[in-house]
Amino acid sequence: MSGLYFHIPFCRQACTYCDFHFSTNKTHQAAVLDAMELELIRRNKELGDATVSTIYFGGGTPSLLDPERIAAFIQQARDLFRVDRDAEVTLEANPDDITAERLAEWKSAGITRISLGTQSFRDDRLRFMGRTHNAAHALKSINLIANAGFKTWTIDLIYGLPEMELAEWDEQLRIALDHGMPHLSAYCLTVEPRTALAHQVKKGLVHMPEDDAQSAQFDRLMERMDEAGLDHYEISNFGRPGHYARHNTSYWEGASYLGIGPSAHSFFGNSRRWNVANNAGYAKALKEGTTYWEGETLTPVQRTNERLMTGLRTQWGVEIEALEVDALRINSSALERYVSKGQAMVRDGRLVLTKAGRHFADRIASDLFVTDDDR
Ligand code: SF4
Repeated sequence: MSGLYFHIPFCRQACTYCDFHFSTNKTHQAAVLDAMELELIRRNKELGDATVSTIYFGGGTPSLLDPERIAAFIQQARDLFRVDRDAEVTLEANPDDITAERLAEWKSAGITRISLGTQSFRDDRLRFMGRTHNAAHALKSINLIANAGFKTWTIDLIYGLPEMELAEWDEQLRIALDHGMPHLSAYCLTVEPRTALAHQVKKGLVHMPEDDAQSAQFDRLMERMDEAGLDHYEISNFGRPGHYARHNTSYWEGASYLGIGPSAHSFFGNSRRWNVANNAGYAKALKEGTTYWEGETLTPVQRTNERLMTGLRTQWGVEIEALEVDALRINSSALERYVSKGQAMVRDGRLVLTKAGRHFADRIASDLFVTDDDR
């Protein structure tokens, strides 16, 4: 086992675009956190004292929790598993939760990396997205994090917003770089079903931009990060050498991980499972010792396709010889098409996407998929 993920399913308010599992109702918070401790004990009994190289607190909004609770989870993980001495321990935080005191508490709890949900440096955009912080919070929190002595830190930004011009996106990237950001996760706004944003779009209250505009912003992002010396090591992730996200990289490389908490997923090479996405149901099941998850065993075809889907998103691509299902069974006409269009290439035995191909990573991967008939 490589990574350990804790899903903290509580937020102050719902962001309009978000389809993660979370609740703004704190009624079940204590019960859920107690149940997560129980789940960790239960999973340890099944897995033994596996080695953990990375721990990640995601959500939801983990920065809402009392830092003592975060410290207790880290200590519990250290008591139950073999956690590497130099493990990366990430906490997702929102700008309005950041104070110098809290940062110090997280640091002494064992957090080594802060991932800040910045999203934008403009008040109008933050209001549009339903965020609880404003631009002043975003800037202040970055300054505090940069000086707090963590091993590394990162921020999230969102582009592809309605009526966003290249100049606006440039300005956002300039502000981030001026603040010394060693790593950036940049996501294109997407309309997920059953979100407030989907409702606004359906009602005609919000008009999403054309693909061309979003695509030009992605090009500008790649250009600016390249000029600034941040490597584009995954479609949405850029980092200076030594600052790549180790936890997420292990997901993309197909390493095993254990997910704790409502809706959390776990992956063990041949199988994956996912916890119930219901806070009360999760807490009750753990307390009563009943089932709280579903799972599936993956076939060689599924495992191969998963490697293609996650591996092609990274700068390292996919080692063709290491694919479980014979590489020749990859959809070869699709591969030839993407190679001839200059969107994919084979380099040192690895299938990788070019800069042009990164615009279409998911589509290229799914076009290459091995089908069940090929088994
Ligand atoms: S804070 Fe994060 S998890 Fe919570 S609603 Fe907003 S985007 Fe979703």
